[in-house]
Amino acid sequence: MPTYRGRLAPSPTGLLHLGHARTFWFAAERARAAGGTLLLRNDDLDAIRFRLDFVDAMIADLRWLGFIWEEPVVSQSQRRPRYRAALARLHAANLIYPCTRSRRDVIEAAGAPHEGGADDEPIYPPSFRPSATAPLPPLDETIAVNWRFRVPDGEALSVRDGKFGEQRAVVGRDFGDFLVWRKDDVPSYQLACVVDDAELGVTEVVRGADLIRSTFRQLLLFRALGWAVPDFFHCPLMNDDRGERLAKRHDALALRTLRERGVTPTEILAKFAAENA
Ligand code: GLU
Repeated sequence: MPTYRGRLAPSPTGLLHLGHARTFWFAAERARAAGGTLLLRNDDLDAIRFRLDFVDAMIADLRWLGFIWEEPVVSQSQRRPRYRAALARLHAANLIYPCTRSRRDVIEAAGAPHEGGADDEPIYPPSFRPSATAPLPPLDETIAVNWRFRVPDGEALSVRDGKFGEQRAVVGRDFGDFLVWRKDDVPSYQLACVVDDAELGVTEVVRGADLIRSTFRQLLLFRALGWAVPDFFHCPLMNDDRGERLAKRHDALALRTLRERGVTPTEILAKFAAENA
């Protein structure tokens, strides 16, 4: 068995709140219990929502909580050539295709939004797909069209989640052809995440339960790229006292705010430990 290697993968699009802290606490506990290590991945691909001051804030907040990771921090924006290499492999294997349909076309054709997690997109209509035998256009140096992964419709997938147990999905019914590269020349979360988890030797992915559905898309990418699949442990999401899911705009529960109010890391972590004892 390879030595346990986990990761903390915050997105610098807002201040971290108590819900993030709890997910990272799970990740840190899992690594500690397995005698392994953690790396810190800065998910900074989203150039529109990304802010440099949030990177500094998240690192400072994670240090304040006492989490320890291997240095240096891995920033996704620095790894574009790796994502591009994976894209080229998917292209060579004829597993992706360029898609010129707008988001509106897809929503209109797919009908009512699919009920799933927050990461769910409408199911891409198979009728929009080009034939698998049609010649594939080359990948341009600068990409200006969406590229999608052609999913194997009807295949039943299952994965054992360390927290939630057996999870199943049917390809084409629960999700459809998904983006691997965006027309603004940015790799998709799904592709970047799989490339990183595989190439950085992550043995277990610990993250919020909102990403369980993404896991199935990622399983297909691990397989297509010939990489071993890590273990998965999804953490229950935290709700506020009105029962609504915490979002980055919940400033009252931002770690910054708690710190200013005099809450200590020991209190925060002890609470997580007590809840999960
Ligand atoms: N950066 C993502 C988030 O903050 C997590 C991605 C992952 O853990 O795979 O939601």
